[in-house]
Parts: sequence; C-alpha cells; structure tokens
Amino acid sequence: MPDTLIKVDLSQSPTLNENIHNRWHPDIPMACWVNPGDDFVLETFDWTGGFIKNNDSADDVRDIDLTTVHYLSGPVGVKGAEPGDLLIVDLLDIGAKPDSLWGFNGFFSKKNGGGFLTDHFPQAQKSIWDIEGLYTRSRHVPGVSFAGLIHPGLIGCLPDQKMLDMWNKRESDFVATDPKRVPPLCADNNPTTAHLGKATGAARAKAAAEGARTVPPREHGGNCDIKDLSRGSKIYFPVYVDGAGLSVGDLHFSQGDGEITFCGAIEMAGWVHMRVSLLKGGMAKYGIKNPIFKPSPITPTYNDYLIFEGISVDEYGKQHYLDVHVAYRQACLNAIEYLKKFGYSAAQAHSILGTAPVQGHISGVVDIPNACATLWLPTQIFDFDINPCAAGPTKFLDGSIDMPLSPDLV
Ligand code: ZN
Repeated sequence: MPDTLIKVDLSQSPTLNENIHNRWHPDIPMACWVNPGDDFVLETFDWTGGFIKNNDSADDVRDIDLTTVHYLSGPVGVKGAEPGDLLIVDLLDIGAKPDSLWGFNGFFSKKNGGGFLTDHFPQAQKSIWDIEGLYTRSRHVPGVSFAGLIHPGLIGCLPDQKMLDMWNKRESDFVATDPKRVPPLCADNNPTTAHLGKATGAARAKAAAEGARTVPPREHGGNCDIKDLSRGSKIYFPVYVDGAGLSVGDLHFSQGDGEITFCGAIEMAGWVHMRVSLLKGGMAKYGIKNPIFKPSPITPTYNDYLIFEGISVDEYGKQHYLDVHVAYRQACLNAIEYLKKFGYSAAQAHSILGTAPVQGHISGVVDIPNACATLWLPTQIFDFDINPCAAGPTKFLDGSIDMPLSPDLV
C-alpha cells in the first residue's frame, strides 16, 4: 500500500490541519517531501472544507463565505525539482472518502458568487448526489444516473514571487475597471480567511497579505475544472520554485464541460493516489507555458448524444462578435428548455448539465459575427428516452420533487 502522506479528518475544520492551504504563495512551507518516482496518497477535503452539508436545504450554499475556499492538500515538495523543470504527475487513482460517499452540486446566489447562468438562477439551490460505487444518482434530480469521471478540479504547483506579483497586478488592474460589479470581476480576497499550512509569524502574515486566491485557472494550472483530467491521466506541470510544491483538491465525482453550475460539479471529499517524476528543463525543451496532459485510458462509454447548438446572439437578442461564452450559454439554455418538456424543473435540468459527463465543444469561431458552441447531452444517462419523436415528449416527472431553494436574505 502506498503511504498516505496527508490525512484529513472530515469531522474537523480544515483550518486545524497544517497540511492544508487555501491561497497560492511561494512561502507556504512544504507539507511533506517525496522523491521522483515515489507514489503516495493525499486525502482531501471537499473544496468548501465541509461547509456544504448532506441535507435538504440550500442555506449553506447561500451563506458560504467564499473567501475561505478552496482547501487544498499540500504543497508536496519533490526533491530535485527546480524552476524550469516539468513535474510529471500520474493520477493513478482517485476516489471518495469511504466515510463520505456523497457529493453536492448547486448554484450560488447572484449576491454571493453568482455563476454562468446566474441571471436565470439568481437564488441559491442545491442537489445532493449519492455515490454508489462507479455510479451516482440524486434524490433531488430523479430519472438520471451515470458513471463517474472522477477528477481533481484543482491541481498545480506553487508560483514563484515574480509570477505571484504578476497575477496580483493583472487581476487588481482588471477589478479596477468595474470595482462595484455584482458578482465581482475577480474573487474577493480577505487575508483574515487565508489558511497557509505550516506557515507562521512574519512569513505567514506576508503570505496572507499577498497570497493569490485559488479560484481562477492560471499559468500553473490550478482551478482548471477539466473533467477529462481524470484518474489515469498523466499531467506535465511547469515548475517555478525549488521542490515544485504540488497541491491538489476540489475533487469531482463527475462534471459537465464548463462546470456551468459553479457551486461545483459533484463536489466530494476524497483521496488521490499519484506518482511524481521530473523532466529536467522541460519547460524550455517543449516550449511549455501552461500544463499539458494525456487523458485516461478509462472513460465512461456514453456514445449517443443529443447535441444542442448555440450562437453568439444572447438570450435578449443582442448580437455579440464571435463570443463563445455567449454561444455556449445559449446551447446550455436550449438544452434546459428541452429537458423541461420531460417534467424537469429548470433547476434540475441545469444541475444535470453541471454534473453529468456532458461535452462542450467550440464548434466555429470564424463565421462572423456568430461563434457556434455545442453542448453534447448523453442520452444513455436517462431512465427514459429523451430523443425527439412524432408523439412528442412524455412527461417522466410530475414536478413533485425539486431541488431545495433558499431565497436571499433581506
Ligand atoms: Zn469543484
């Protein structure tokens, strides 16, 4: 059995665990050290550190302090790693914690987090998904189940001071272009909720003041939320500091492309079994700025899809120029409208797109003025036939079950 180098106790706050951190900073001390070629296990909290509960209320999604996330396990130091190397990470296996065989999906309130479809779903909602071996289903979203494509939403190495300073400058300059926006242009920072592993004293204060939020993906990878970065993948990460400092968290049992629901995919606490090795000087050798990876040999074999098109004309009729964000939003909204015809609420349909192994494709970006994006909805995940037919859709659901919704506090 490989050694479990980082353990988490789900009954305790992640802030009591000195092998956990929620900011990126080069001065966060390594939680542990390994040699190239070693394989080992890291346990992880869910990204909220246990704040979201397995219950039938969305109040926790509404009320969460989003400056506390994400809780990451690490950083793991790799002996001999130097800036300019590539850290090769084999994701040998990933699973849920045996004492926590469930995950959550939700939509944040527009006033606290927002999200991709926040104008259509402005209030907090939540669905709970039970993990049954390979499969998952939800008491809040009947009629659908699928095999997990388990992956870390967030994985990457520590930045050096120069890269951190660049991130902080470009993001604060960006926020300054529209500082009052709701939701904000970048995730708010709050040094008082920074948790910095083993850092103490002046180093801790510096890291709390300067540490980058873990929300956006950046040059080092980080919170990329790539569903295909799943167990069995091999990833090549740029190294910026001695020892590399690899951290991982935000495990997803499953997710649709885009993680459009934003209060996650199917978010879970779990463990990652990985092996690390080094490709010396690999960044320059291969011209690598952002991570590259090889996919897993194992993926759920859903091979029949209903594919929804979207173009860069928004839901209010406004023309946008080759905007794939607008186009993908339209594809998603079109799929939600379609699924409503079978008895799903809009929220349930939205949750399916955020959790199931839905594919998103950028289909065309040159045919001015409209980009075209497509959303591929696997038909085999449903307990009933969702294909169009002459008789029209049969209502599989009667509306008696829906996702918990929490009105905003006034
Ligand atoms: Zn996540």
